Amino acid sequence: MTGQLQRVGDDGPLRCSFCSNEAAGPCASCEAPVCGDCCTLTEGGAKTWAICLDCDRKKGRSLSHAWGSFGTFLIGILVVLAAAVGIMAWLSAH
Ligand SMILES: [Zn+2]
Ligand SMILES: [Zn+2]
Repeated sequence: MTGQLQRVGDDGPLRCSFCSNEAAGPCASCEAPVCGDCCTLTEGGAKTWAICLDCDRKKGRSLSHAWGSFGTFLIGILVVLAAAVGIMAWLSAH
């Protein structure tokens, strides 16, 4: 299927980051696109997660690490916003 226009969007066809197959979906931990052959299914609760081979090596910590990164990301945004507000206040006061 070469020569076709590829859609660049969240539902566009993605290539597996480990081989050249079409990705079946993103890794639940690092969000790298992986195909069915290059991912491992983890059943750690009500939902089945697909994680890539890299994250499979650190299985167990991977999902909590993803949530920790998300929390760190949110805190980072808040810190940057607070710093920006502080700088603006300082500039307007001087
Ligand atoms: Zn693959
Ligand atoms: Zn991964």
